[in-house]
Amino acid sequence: MSCVFCEIAQKQIPATIEWEDEEYIAIRDINPQAPVHILIMPKQHFRNVEEAESSVVGRLIEIAQRLARERGLDRGYRIVINTGPEGGQTIYHLHIHLLGGRPFGWPPG
Ligand code: 5GP
Ligand code: ZN
Repeated sequence: MSCVFCEIAQKQIPATIEWEDEEYIAIRDINPQAPVHILIMPKQHFRNVEEAESSVVGRLIEIAQRLARERGLDRGYRIVINTGPEGGQTIYHLHIHLLGGRPFGWPPG
């Protein structure tokens, strides 16, 4: 099964890489919804948050916190995990969105 985020993680297709280590990678969203819009994901394929261990999800949030600090998002930011069709998930490789640099409304659309 081909997966665009697996291909990005394996450097088979290009992306703007914001940060990476052996197991995780953070890339700029191709269609950014805010001045900072970074996708953070494990290099290993998990379909979504339903499939991943909580330690993996915890690590994603830790990376988001660090990137938010490094990007100077001291006035706040939003972390989003779209899950399943009603959750608005379009790419079925676990990722979290780190959004910042502008105010966000609530409730979401
Ligand atoms: P989801 O709706 O699954 O939570 O979010 C998928 C996100 O991936 C979207 O914000 C979309 O803009 C982004 N995206 C889709 N394809 C690519 C791609 O090829 N490269 C990058 N960098 N982002 C992508
Ligand atoms: Zn994948």
